[in-house]
Amino acid sequence: CGIVGYIGSRQAQDVLISGLAKLEYRGYDSAGVAIRNGTHIEVKKKAGKLANLSTLLEGKPLEGTLGIGHTRWATHGLPNDTNAHPHATEDGRIVIIHNGIIENYLTLKAGLMERGHSFKSETDSEVLAHLIEEAYSGDLYEAVRTALGQVRGAYGIVVTHVDHREIVAARTVSPLVMGVGEGEMFLASDVPALLPYTRKMVFLHDGDMVVLHDDGFRITDLAGNPVERDIEHIDWD
Ligand code: GLU
Repeated sequence: CGIVGYIGSRQAQDVLISGLAKLEYRGYDSAGVAIRNGTHIEVKKKAGKLANLSTLLEGKPLEGTLGIGHTRWATHGLPNDTNAHPHATEDGRIVIIHNGIIENYLTLKAGLMERGHSFKSETDSEVLAHLIEEAYSGDLYEAVRTALGQVRGAYGIVVTHVDHREIVAARTVSPLVMGVGEGEMFLASDVPALLPYTRKMVFLHDGDMVVLHDDGFRITDLAGNPVERDIEHIDWD
């Protein structure tokens, strides 16, 4: 239901938790974060209030300056720890967060299982991690693009890969706004999560994909064509 993403020089966990707190008004039943620290991506998630996740992280914060966070409003699968986002591939190298509903997930899941994938959660979202893994051959953006070509439904999606210092995101129906900083970039479902960090924002349109790096971004459509979007200055608090 709520998404936050960060790449830059701050500790990502702080940005994610504070951003998710600003999105609490959207309603949710579980929360989770994934932080990339160079050699692996660590996932922590917990059913219930954001405070439950904060308690889990207290004392042993996740180190790293690239991360994604989620508050879930369950549509497919009970609101428990396993079904909470992020969702990772079996080898833990690709980690995704998804808002919305993948309408054809049962068909996709059956195909993936036939091809040897095994699933941990009951969510519709987990198919995205496996589809991206299947499509991946070195270029994360291309793998996400190929995977999204197979899904029907609504999504805001953010994706990380252990081998790449970047975040790949896309949206159809579900909202996603990007915050542009100095040597840092942000993503969120809504503006309030980003206001403490930057006033320069790009509202992604339906069918937009974006690749975030520390010092910039690249937007395309789902066919891979470059897309220009204005950077808007938000001056309300
Ligand atoms: N359909 C997904 C799930 O049930 C995502 C829900 C959401 O938008 O938070 O896990």
